[in-house]
Amino acid sequence: MTLTPCPVFIGGEWTKLPDLPTTPVHNPSTGELIAEAPLCASRQVDQAVAAATVALPAWWETPATERARILFRFKAILEEHFEELVRCNTREHGKTWVESRGDVKRGIEMVEFACGIPSLLMGESLENVARGIDCETVRQPLGVCAGITPFNFPCMVPLWMYPVAIACGNTFILKPSEKVPLTAIKVAELFEKAGLPKGVLNIVHGGRECVDALLTHPGINGISFVGSTPVARYIYEVGTKHRKRVQANGGAKNFLMLMPDADVDNSVRGVIEAAFGCAGERCMAGSTAVVVGDAAKRVLPPLVEAARAIKVGPTDREAQPDMGPVITSQHRDRVAQLIETGAKEGARIATDGRHVKIEAAPNGFFLGATVLDDVQPGMTVMREEIFGPVLNVMRMEDLDTAIELANRSPYGNGASIFTCSGKAAREFKHRIKCGMVGINVGVPASMAWFPFNGWNESFFGDLHMQGKEGIQFFTQLKVTMSRWFSYGEGDVWYREQRK
Ligand code: NAD
Repeated sequence: MTLTPCPVFIGGEWTKLPDLPTTPVHNPSTGELIAEAPLCASRQVDQAVAAATVALPAWWETPATERARILFRFKAILEEHFEELVRCNTREHGKTWVESRGDVKRGIEMVEFACGIPSLLMGESLENVARGIDCETVRQPLGVCAGITPFNFPCMVPLWMYPVAIACGNTFILKPSEKVPLTAIKVAELFEKAGLPKGVLNIVHGGRECVDALLTHPGINGISFVGSTPVARYIYEVGTKHRKRVQANGGAKNFLMLMPDADVDNSVRGVIEAAFGCAGERCMAGSTAVVVGDAAKRVLPPLVEAARAIKVGPTDREAQPDMGPVITSQHRDRVAQLIETGAKEGARIATDGRHVKIEAAPNGFFLGATVLDDVQPGMTVMREEIFGPVLNVMRMEDLDTAIELANRSPYGNGASIFTCSGKAAREFKHRIKCGMVGINVGVPASMAWFPFNGWNESFFGDLHMQGKEGIQFFTQLKVTMSRWFSYGEGDVWYREQRK
């Protein structure tokens, strides 16, 4: 089978780099090799920074209204190619088509948000801050920015970054995940088609060496990162040490509280979707269900039954399963090992997804849905982000204990409560220590117009992606104080007076 090309995009040119070492890209549904991503190093990063630097002055001077018009065209073209992007996303990532549609749709919403750039960039002004002195603020671009993205949302996560950066007048270098570079390439081709000038968006590929070259390059002013917590911490430390503005989203462990008065059908549906949607490979996955008091009796039997009923299979064909494969065979083995460790440390396996056999795709990276019951704080499965189709279940006496438990987590992305009680929901919302809260919503991932708002070890930096914070991240504020002592010679009114 011919491999899909994986070129870099530098200064408006798509270039294959056959001499570089590569890393394999697989279709997780079949295990088949579909592409080879080149492992770029400082040479390609230098070229990309040079191209972005050359393109910067003209793009900086392009009026926000003109930049917005290109973004409107980009949005329309993305919509025209929607299903093509969905298939590409599924082929390299393994999500179901329904899940890939969500990935692409959320990405397009970021472009929609960025289309509002003329209003979003508006500053403030105050006349007469002192007698005859006016003050105003304007937002100017940060400069050349770079983005480093994870494998789990091949379309959406790169679009969290560059439509906003570019709308603000910056130029950008994207390094997509080396596991899923193809969707990022396709989306960039569509941006080019929308009329984006050469060098405004550039793409390099690779792993740590390429990332280090970006992090330390003196020509880069801002770094956006999304990925696991250890790498996010590293990016923040090295990037800020090299005097860059950095926003770095990390991993997570999200709690779902099930109260005794929760609506059983809707809560079970919400927990199943939160835990097993995208095969659990989401930073907002509801990976731990905390059943409070009597909720265990009402909710757990239908929850385990629903997990057992999840149909797993290949996602790259017409007959779509409920859940697709995980990203690589190594990741499948790691998740299976974590389930084993959980059982050894005392968790009870209520349903075990480790032994699924998929005859239609024997080499795919499949795991069925797994529920681990009686999980205790301190177990390995509670400490580590599993990032697979595994739901931990913990039993707690009351909401206070459940909130205390969640608040001891080092992470802080999301947490949800399922209840019919306004008071319980209000207490939860007020006291839980995380940045995105769900009330009868299993995946409270905020949308483009609001910040994607991780706390604690789920975020390193000061300004989040999305929403107004995203605009602030990609711009520098300038404050001008102005005073005029006399009318100038060029002033018509002044000249008239002197006649
Ligand atoms: P990852 O951290 O392994 O990789 C992310 C990016 O960093 C990739 O582009 C990769 O090439 C690069 N990278 C990997 N190791 C590196 C190293 N040692 N030095 C420099 N760069 C390195 O993450 P992943 O496995 O691709 O994605 C899954 C992780 O991303 C999960 O932890 C998930 O929770 C997290 N995530 C977080 C969010 C969020 O918004 N908080 C969103 C999506 C995914």
